[in-house]
Amino acid sequence: MPVIQQNVSLQSFNSLALPAEAEFFCTVRDRAELRAALQFAHSRQLVVTPIGGGSNIVLAANLSGLVVHMDLRGVSHRAVGRVIEVTFAAGENWHQQVQSCLEQGWYGMENLALIPGSMGAAPIQNIGAYGVELSDLFVSLNAIDKLSGEAVEFDRAACQFGYRDSVFKNAARDRYLIVDITLGLTTQPQINIQYPALQAAVNQHARSAAEIGPELVSAMVCQIRRQKLPDPELIPNAGSFFKNPLVTRAQTDALLRRYPQMPHYAQADGDSKIPAAWLIEQCGFKGTVRGAVGVHDRQALVLVNLGGGNGAELLELAAELCDAVKQRFAIELEIEPRVYGAD
Ligand code: FAD
Ligand code: NAP
Repeated sequence: MPVIQQNVSLQSFNSLALPAEAEFFCTVRDRAELRAALQFAHSRQLVVTPIGGGSNIVLAANLSGLVVHMDLRGVSHRAVGRVIEVTFAAGENWHQQVQSCLEQGWYGMENLALIPGSMGAAPIQNIGAYGVELSDLFVSLNAIDKLSGEAVEFDRAACQFGYRDSVFKNAARDRYLIVDITLGLTTQPQINIQYPALQAAVNQHARSAAEIGPELVSAMVCQIRRQKLPDPELIPNAGSFFKNPLVTRAQTDALLRRYPQMPHYAQADGDSKIPAAWLIEQCGFKGTVRGAVGVHDRQALVLVNLGGGNGAELLELAAELCDAVKQRFAIELEIEPRVYGAD
């Protein structure tokens, strides 16, 4: 049975360092502890909220019910033809596993280096960076249904992955506790350096084409991210606060007539993705400070807690940015992290 505590501060369990308490809290390290935690919650009719690294949540109020810190550990693998299928328990750290797989010569995760958080949370928003998404590597996951307590396996189709989206943000929201995920990696590197900043960094560092491999890609991704993004340990943040909006071709054309320099990326379905950071920057918010919260001065998509800020203040600033972008561009920004307590 895991130790279950009452009225526990979650400030050190969320990367925005927002003040909030869990009514009940426990850390589970294996499936047996998870089942015991679920039984405890069931017997008291408590809502169960899983958290991993807390790097994609906004706590705007105390959480009632039982918060379960998903810290299950373990990694195993098997060869399936040319693919190495690696199964990671939910509590393993994403970036550590990217590095560990690289060291083994198992490739595919390198563009996703330095993303904070746990393996178990990665499918929730189909994490992605520099042209690669979790869904590109995904094989399956095992979860426990919070309602029935039954084990359920999801393959890629069942996860309904989309752009920073999955079934776990929609029809299956709040229903499952992910206990492990399996990714298909390869011993044959496939280099993807289509993102301009990554391509430039790789080309600058490689003395010859032979040096351009997954290790260099991972190192360059880490270098760029460290230059651009605030370290949550030093300046609390949750990464991108908004998704990059997808707009129709007609709306893109209309915007380009007014803003010919607007960056935009055509999608397969004809829509365009517009960087939300650019929209916010155009509205003059880069580096804005509102009391104890603000917009990061190197990346306008990142909202930061400058010390002592709370969820309400952060959401007020987010609403101000959304209003400004909507007024100027007629585009609705959507918050990316999961917001708790501001219904
Ligand atoms: P948490 O914040 O703990 O949880 C997020 C959500 O998932 C919550 O709703 C929680 O209930 C749920 N959840 C967590 N674990 C489980 C589980 N085992 N079972 C069921 N539900 C669960 N994201 C990107 O996509 N790309 C990036 O490049 C990126 N860069 C970032 C950079 C910084 C500096 C920061 C702070 C964040 C960044 N993020 C990025 C966001 C974040 O790292 C990812 O969303 C990550 O997957 C969150 O993992 P976590 O363990 O911290 O999840
Ligand atoms: P960037 O390189 O400055 O580019 C700005 C945006 O334009 C990106 O968000 C990206 O969308 C899009 N983009 C750039 N080049 C593209 C291309 N060739 N094709 C399609 N889209 C392109 O971005 P950044 O802010 O420094 O972030 C770099 C990468 O890390 C991005 O992939 C970003 O998503 C990821 N990241 C995510 C978070 C998070 O919390 N979610 C935080 C930090 C970084 P996409 O976002 O769709 O890739």
